[in-house]
Amino acid sequence: MTQPSYIWNPPPPPSLPIRGRTERLPINRIFCVGRNYHAHAVEMGRPVDKAKERPFYFTKSPQSLVQSGATVAYPPQTDNYHFEMELVLVVGKPGFRVKAEDAHDIIYGYACGLDMTRRDLQLVARDKGRPWDLGKDIEDGSVVSEIVEMPGHVISSGEIALTVNGEPRQKSDIDKLIWDIREQIADLSLFYHLQPGDLIFTGTPEGVGPVVAGDRIAGHVAGVGEISLQIGPAE
Ligand code: MN
Repeated sequence: MTQPSYIWNPPPPPSLPIRGRTERLPINRIFCVGRNYHAHAVEMGRPVDKAKERPFYFTKSPQSLVQSGATVAYPPQTDNYHFEMELVLVVGKPGFRVKAEDAHDIIYGYACGLDMTRRDLQLVARDKGRPWDLGKDIEDGSVVSEIVEMPGHVISSGEIALTVNGEPRQKSDIDKLIWDIREQIADLSLFYHLQPGDLIFTGTPEGVGPVVAGDRIAGHVAGVGEISLQIGPAE
């Protein structure tokens, strides 16, 4: 097949390193689950009744991806830039209308993630019924660690925690997810044909809070790995 020609060179796809491999994993889409730990839903003033509600999602553009260890500028148009420590699921096979009991089939592996958030703008959008994009889809605002290959493995427990400048800020366990890994894949794949390279940020536990220029964020998920981010001055 003839290669198309472009009027300028397209950028390479966003990608992440994989532990123990030289090849990188090309990233397709970034899905995020909202309010997926009860204590976080309560701290946001929106408790969840799983018997009556379904999970909800927002997306962040793949171009917002930045690798763990980076220093990023404090973003424009916010005075309340928050961290959200999350377990990130990496999809490795196509999946549409995947049954919960088959969900493990499409799992490639996992990573640690920071769903960085302009909380002031997100809350204004939420309360005015506007889209969340300006609060969530932030340049350098989707931070992800190296990916750990765990094909077919469902993570159901393990400590998830975050510190800022060494001070503990978030600490919970993956077993407190309201919608677990299997349920997330089953539900999200009702809406989307999931593809290899899709990331699912699975939600953050309680303790979210602001950072300022000079802060150093460090987090971990037991059995997965670690993540870090340095906040630089605003541009
Ligand atoms: Mn989040």
